[in-house]
Amino acid sequence: MERSSLNTPASLDAPASVYGDDDPIAAFATTPGTSALTLLRCSGKNTIDLIAKVFSPGKVKNAAGNTVIHGWIIDREQSTENKKIDEVVLTVFRAPKSYTGEDSVDICCHGGSVTGKAVMDVLKKTGFRDALPGEFTFRAFVNGKIDLTRCESVMELVNAKTEKGRSHAVSRLSGSLQNEINELKQLLVQVLAGAEIYLDYSEDEISAEYDADAKDEIAGKLPNKDIAQNVLTRLKKLSDSWNIERIYQDGVTVVIAGKPNTGKSSLFNLLLKEDRSIVTETPGTTRDWIEAWVSIGGIPVRLVDTAGLRDTDDSVEKIGVERSRKLLDEADIVLYLIDGSHGNQESGFGSMEAENKNISDNEKINFRKSVIYLWNKCDIFRMPNPFPLVNISPISVSAKTGEGYNNLYDAIAQAINSQGATASQSATASRSAMASRSAMASLSGDFQSQNTSAAALGTVRQKNLVDTACAVLEEALELVESGEPLDLIAPLVREAVNALGEITGEVLSADIFEEMFSRFCVGK
Ligand code: GDP
Repeated sequence: MERSSLNTPASLDAPASVYGDDDPIAAFATTPGTSALTLLRCSGKNTIDLIAKVFSPGKVKNAAGNTVIHGWIIDREQSTENKKIDEVVLTVFRAPKSYTGEDSVDICCHGGSVTGKAVMDVLKKTGFRDALPGEFTFRAFVNGKIDLTRCESVMELVNAKTEKGRSHAVSRLSGSLQNEINELKQLLVQVLAGAEIYLDYSEDEISAEYDADAKDEIAGKLPNKDIAQNVLTRLKKLSDSWNIERIYQDGVTVVIAGKPNTGKSSLFNLLLKEDRSIVTETPGTTRDWIEAWVSIGGIPVRLVDTAGLRDTDDSVEKIGVERSRKLLDEADIVLYLIDGSHGNQESGFGSMEAENKNISDNEKINFRKSVIYLWNKCDIFRMPNPFPLVNISPISVSAKTGEGYNNLYDAIAQAINSQGATASQSATASRSAMASRSAMASLSGDFQSQNTSAAALGTVRQKNLVDTACAVLEEALELVESGEPLDLIAPLVREAVNALGEITGEVLSADIFEEMFSRFCVGK
């Protein structure tokens, strides 16, 4: 595979490094800081010889691949007593049996903010340069170790927020998406081959006087049309898979809102199962917002505890209330708390009317998605049954005792599910507007039943390319239906093949590198 020469932004005092050379590169694979160990990785031309220069004892040069060697990183420029930088363990990999496909060495040194840096300084002095973001993975791709879908899954793994997100990324790292794309591409190549044989035949083999008849005969006929139709169905299923995968990666924002003292912080803590938020009896304590990530049904949920929504003259609290309203605007799901203990007041359902007023105020906020109403403090006052307000049916909970927790958890999971389904439906609608053809294979939106081994998309880049393939294939099939000649149809099928080739990286462009690898972390 030809190496690219994508330039990185030039620095003033150093020539710009480029993806695509085989320079010896080094980077931290772990974040330097207080920890037992730090890992640095090195790869590229002469890596093992260069490491041999800064390592003692001299066992590295002849080390077999996949071996571990204990010794010292040495700075030979230092005086004898300062030569030893750190006691380390090296893992030596010989090309092509390494992550990058090149000679590589992992250096495991002591942790802390100073030691790793001192080792890195020695490596730089001996000839290694800083690796660019994602450069190790880039080299793995260039050397044919992994395709682009696997490269992207490496980044997904690094960023996974939940166990399910991790397992979906691992499925792609194991090649589930690559295999599906390659299979679909092969089928389209088969369609294309059939069409081109037909085209060649009509041009070369049929005499001019029969040519018109022959053209009529093949017009509106795509050999292996059923295969193309089947590929389109599978591509649409893949495209829809992104609606759920996107949520596994980005998560959903769940905002807890309500009047001060209704129990928002207590609920936040209950959902977090730890005391992160301030719980107090004085209204208005959570003046700004606090957020944390939790996993609900394997979906990463950004849980936000907001300041109480009320009119206030306190200027600091005012800012908090303003921010709460903004967060509510951004929320995918809102948990709106009603203070159940008000139901115990003299005024009876007069207080419910007051709650109703709160809710009406709140509805003025433009909620993008679902609102789950909660009757909190059910341990003090039970939720009336039937509930007197017809337009809402709150869930009865006690943030203090945990009562109703399971119902609440299920309601949030259910709301997330419907978000997946809604996203799927709107994606369907926009595509049908674009190509206005057959009904989409609609996704149930059921996260729980999502099969991790089934091929699914992991990035927007993949999603855009699959949508391109879908659109051109749909157009091709429309032309077949309306009896257009094959020489108009075949190029569209070829375009679909190219789009699929771009997903795995068979079709290369500098844009791919810019888009993908610049988002990687250094050392990956
Ligand atoms: P926030 O202002 O809405 O965040 O409310 P807090 O979480 O600070 O709670 C206000 C008060 O209500 C505190 O005294 C909590 O202990 C109490 N509280 C919150 N939830 C419950 C509940 O479910 N039952 C009872 N009995 N008290 C609660």
